[in-house]
Amino acid sequence: MCIFCKIVAGEIPSKKAYEDDKVLAFYDINPLAPIHILVIPKEHIRSAAGINETNEALAGHMIAAAAKIANELGISDYRLISNIGPTAGQTVEHFHIHLIGGVDMSKRML
Ligand code: 5GP
Ligand code: ZN
Repeated sequence: MCIFCKIVAGEIPSKKAYEDDKVLAFYDINPLAPIHILVIPKEHIRSAAGINETNEALAGHMIAAAAKIANELGISDYRLISNIGPTAGQTVEHFHIHLIGGVDMSKRML
């Protein structure tokens, strides 16, 4: 089982930000900004590249969950990032969207 599947299963503890039947969101263990949350599908999918016509609704659901979390946290400005593959910075092979906010990122893309 991958590390994020273990978090979904409750075998590794996490600080939850949101949960429903399809999606879990939890605070990143190594935050890169004042708000840094990971939104993941409960189902194991290796990355966003594993999204296709059979499961594309899940990706929309994850973005909707991110929007809901941001709204609950009272932030209107934030960034959603998903790394695909090691040279793009993906270190955990379970699809996740980083929700990053609470800092002015307007002058930098990376
Ligand atoms: P990636 O580098 O794959 O885009 O993002 C993986 C993220 O998962 C990293 O930001 C890293 O800090 C976070 N992470 C890795 N292991 C754990 C963990 O056990 N718990 C939590 N909460 N975050 C983790
Ligand atoms: Zn997994």
